Amino acid sequence: MNNCIFCKIIKGEIPSQKIYEDDLVYAFHDIAPAAPVHILIIPKTHIPCLQETEPTHQALLGHILLTAKKLASELGVAEEGYRIVNNCGEKSGQTVFHLHFHLLAGDTFSKLV
Ligand code: AMP
Ligand code: ZN
Repeated sequence: MNNCIFCKIIKGEIPSQKIYEDDLVYAFHDIAPAAPVHILIIPKTHIPCLQETEPTHQALLGHILLTAKKLASELGVAEEGYRIVNNCGEKSGQTVFHLHFHLLAGDTFSKLV
């Protein structure tokens, strides 16, 4: 995807504060943190949003969540707790249309759900 900001981050064309990377995923600090810890975890392949995923992405989606768990431990927030957020589609507030999961911690969050 030529014009995708997160694809450009993965390729190193746009700078990011990388926190973790493997064959499947890339994780980095959000540029406008909504909490003391605000990490974005994204697949290296361009998928616009959760609704565009297929059964073939099952392992990838599981890997993203296991990566979130691992990073929460490494960042020292696993015990106090953290929130994983995925916005899917414009009405949800999604602004970057490359699948991403927010890992938020270090704050108390309003209880939407
Ligand atoms: P969403 O609103 O769920 O689509 O989340 C997109 C997130 O990407 C927002 O929290 C933005 O602050 C973040 N973001 C946008 N551009 C960058 C960037 N260049 N580096 C890091 N985070 C970014
Ligand atoms: Zn992309």
